[in-house]
Amino acid sequence: ARQNRQPFAVFERDMERRVQHNLALLGDLRRALSAEGELNLVYQPVLGCEDRRVTHVEALLRWQHPHLGPIPPGDFVPILEQSSLIQPLTDWVLDRALDEIGPLWRSERIGVCINVSPQNLVGRDFVGTVREALARHNLPTDALGVELTETQLMAQDSLGPITETLRELTNAGIKVWLDDFGTGSSTLVRLQQLPATGLKIDRGFTQNLAENRRNRDLVRISVDIARLLGLEIIAEGVETKSDYDAVSVLGCDAGQGYFIARPMPVDKLVDFVRESAPE
Ligand code: C2E
Ligand code: CA
Ligand code: CA
Ligand code: CA
Repeated sequence: ARQNRQPFAVFERDMERRVQHNLALLGDLRRALSAEGELNLVYQPVLGCEDRRVTHVEALLRWQHPHLGPIPPGDFVPILEQSSLIQPLTDWVLDRALDEIGPLWRSERIGVCINVSPQNLVGRDFVGTVREALARHNLPTDALGVELTETQLMAQDSLGPITETLRELTNAGIKVWLDDFGTGSSTLVRLQQLPATGLKIDRGFTQNLAENRRNRDLVRISVDIARLLGLEIIAEGVETKSDYDAVSVLGCDAGQGYFIARPMPVDKLVDFVRESAPE
């Protein structure tokens, strides 16, 4: 019996520690939202498969904790999503992204996508918030896109309220991308009803395409689904030239990944855009 109880005690202690840790992180984040320079955005370009020009960029959050150092978004965004803090955080991301990418929109027509959580899309006027932010930055709706993961979307009890918001967004000209496509459990029926601009194939399926026939088939099927539904399709996690060529041949519209460019601060991005523009 003693043998059996020990692991549980350990588990309980771990859990308590984790709860404490998460609470502390939430407090730190609340502070970080009003502190200068702790939160930042980096941008990863999405490149068209045909013309190999930047179509738009994705904003990715970075948190430099004063004591713990850099904390990846995967370690704190899920905690935030359990709290009301996800709202001010997304507002912050929206405002910062429009502020930093606005000049690139004006000079090169390069817009920005932000990652949103399902909680951002229900229970408040998200479209109104977005419209206000765009107006404040003097930008049109087509300068902005939102990304929502397939898993989070399909986990909703009812897709009704979210679908409503997504429809308002797409009707307004704001792009909607279904993120990490292939890892969730969309049915074709649900996909067909989804007001979206396109799919982003999860990086789990876009690697080693020359050797991995299963991945190749999954990319091909995703492209077929996108075509069938009239959606655009981006391959995420493109890490090699060979994979970029493969997703291009398989019919993806655009690619994103370390082979093309790592996420970078806005000043580096401006250089990247200049250097990648054709003569
Ligand atoms: P995501 O939206 O799927 O973003 C792509 C992630 O893959 C990013 O990780 C990016 O740095 C990484 N990545 C890009 N290219 C490659 C590649 O070629 N190979 C590999 N192995 N990885 C690549 P990151 O920045 O750590 O973000 C992780 C996740 O955190 C994001 O996944 C997104 O779901 C979430 N996230 C990031 N920023 C925000 C935000 O502002 N708000 C919300 N709600 N979530 C965010
Ligand atoms: Ca994303
Ligand atoms: Ca993704
Ligand atoms: Ca992801």
